[in-house]
Amino acid sequence: MRKISHWLCDVTLLDKRLQIQFQRNERIVLMSRNEVRLNDNAGADKRMLVEDAMAENYKYPAPLFARKVSVEQFAKNIAGKLNFTAGGDIAALVKRLGGTIVIGSTSPEDQESGSIIARSLSDFTIFISEFTSIERDRFTIAHELGHLLLHLPKLQKENPSSVMRATRFVDERDDVQQRTEWEANWFAAALLMPEDDFKRIYPLGESEAQAFFKVSRSALSARAKSLKLI
Ligand SMILES: [Zn+2]
Repeated sequence: MRKISHWLCDVTLLDKRLQIQFQRNERIVLMSRNEVRLNDNAGADKRMLVEDAMAENYKYPAPLFARKVSVEQFAKNIAGKLNFTAGGDIAALVKRLGGTIVIGSTSPEDQESGSIIARSLSDFTIFISEFTSIERDRFTIAHELGHLLLHLPKLQKENPSSVMRATRFVDERDDVQQRTEWEANWFAAALLMPEDDFKRIYPLGESEAQAFFKVSRSALSARAKSLKLI
């Protein structure tokens, strides 16, 4: 098992890179569902992006084997750096990082979930399903940001020209793939439902908590279990 300290230096580096990106990033396209539906050009962009994406030779993310507590702390640090608070606008966060959100999928296997194609920390596309709720989309986006921030630096350290593609579809018999997904889920849960806020809000009631964090009921329950509140 690799030591988390090995990755912590990357995290410091990453924070610096992110700060630089905020200042220079103007090249942003962000489409809401309605924009995609109403705007033919946006639809054309989407098709182009998908076709372009399919032409690449991808690498799949590998796990860091970081402990859950370390991944959660990392998410907390990132949220602090990016001024992202509970219930915040995750699409705006993607935009600030330089990413694009596309409604659609890169292959039939992730039509109902989500995926990410990342060329660099400031050049990535997150694909979300046409068929899911906003609350579920928020978790999907946060999950894909987990892959970006946790797994892309490792992949590109080994091979700088690697393009990463991650999908929510994994082979459940494959422990390594599963581990990678857990790490992205831990990141997403901690980003969207910070522990301190969660311990304060969750006891007020599930509906209140769901409205506050803007997550699905299942994401809320999973976080409550993880924090041993139920
Ligand atoms: Zn994933």
